[in-house]
Amino acid sequence: MYDYIVVGLGVAGFSFIQQLEENRQNFVVFDNNSQQSTRIAGGMFNPVILKRFTPAWQAAEMLPYALLQFQKAELKYGKKYIHYIDIYRKLTGVEEQNNWTVASDKPVMRDFMREISHEKIDGIEAPYGFGVLRGTGIVNMSELLNDVHQELSAQNKLIKENFDYNQLHIHEEYIEYKNIKARKIVFAEGFGLKNNPFFNHLPLMGTKGEMLMIETDAKIPHIVKSNVFIAPNVAQKGQYYVGATYHWEDKTNIPTPEARKHLEEKLQQLLYKPYKVVLQKAGIRPTVIDRRPLTGTHKKYKNVGILNGMGTRGVILAPTSAKKLFQHMEFEMPLPKEMNINRFD
Ligand SMILES: Cc1cc2nc3c(=O)[nH]c(=O)nc-3n(C[C@H](O)[C@H](O)[C@H](O)COP(=O)(O)OP(=O)(O)OC[C@H]3O[C@@H](n4cnc5c(N)ncnc54)[C@H](O)[C@@H]3O)c2cc1C
Repeated sequence: MYDYIVVGLGVAGFSFIQQLEENRQNFVVFDNNSQQSTRIAGGMFNPVILKRFTPAWQAAEMLPYALLQFQKAELKYGKKYIHYIDIYRKLTGVEEQNNWTVASDKPVMRDFMREISHEKIDGIEAPYGFGVLRGTGIVNMSELLNDVHQELSAQNKLIKENFDYNQLHIHEEYIEYKNIKARKIVFAEGFGLKNNPFFNHLPLMGTKGEMLMIETDAKIPHIVKSNVFIAPNVAQKGQYYVGATYHWEDKTNIPTPEARKHLEEKLQQLLYKPYKVVLQKAGIRPTVIDRRPLTGTHKKYKNVGILNGMGTRGVILAPTSAKKLFQHMEFEMPLPKEMNINRFD
């Protein structure tokens, strides 16, 4: 008898497993590799909305706990996943310079938004300079997930197959799936939630995102944000992540020529040095109509939980959401109402 079955091993599933390990719960995980969101994401953590210079919901509050959890993973696997890299937001004119200065004086914002810099960045022109963000960076999620996969496989805790919802039998004190019994189950399937009959009534929209990996001689030491992000590939010197697109109709993980064209057009407005595209990938962000996480338990079955809706900021939101869900399922602690799925009742 396990304590938990977890379905899905993206950043949400990983964060929940961390809670289980910290609370000495035994578990088994299912993953069918059908969703790619966490693996292809930029992995950036940044609590500021860079279009409007406003705080993203709860992001500054949740960031310290997120970093703590990823640090614990660093200690466990003996690797560096967190890379602190400043974000340089290219400013488009005097008005934006003023907006930056005003916003950077506000509480919370002032912890991240700093001076306007006129630093020369190789390959990039910025006549109005850059607004500098500190305390931001990248978590190398794909490397972390590889390490988690390897560890769980070695411990026989990872079942690499599709979870078939029809075979789940729920009893009051436990659940049964094929020959596995567990006290509880948590679904963390990202956009795969759409196939889950227990929760697919929830308003998960899904927003396709595509990214490019490029190689260039330009030496860009920061994450630069204009109409697109250019971010150093922390795993490969000389490579840069360029992203991302937002598409609401297409719900496949298939890269498209349209997205490549769109990203390259924006890139060429930002980078004037030659580059070569070496990779293009696509994934579906699990976005929710009100942009808040989806956590809670099924109306009828208290031993069936959900951890989803991480949207565009999985790195920051998943660790705290996982903790809240675990405390709710084990100790009946109330969930913050903004992230509780019962807000859609
Ligand atoms: C292009 C792009 C760029 C992004 N950039 C950032 C960024 O810089 N910073 C940031 O914080 N966020 C970013 N995001 C968003 C972030 O990636 C998501 O918030 C996050 O990955 C969602 O994680 P998840 O674990 O909920 O879902 P996923 O990563 O999709 O994981 C779900 C897992 O469940 C598995 N699964 C699904 N159904 C089943 C089933 N029936 N049986 C077994 N397994 C199943 C899937 O295979 C998958 O492994 C980006 C997203 C995209 C697409």
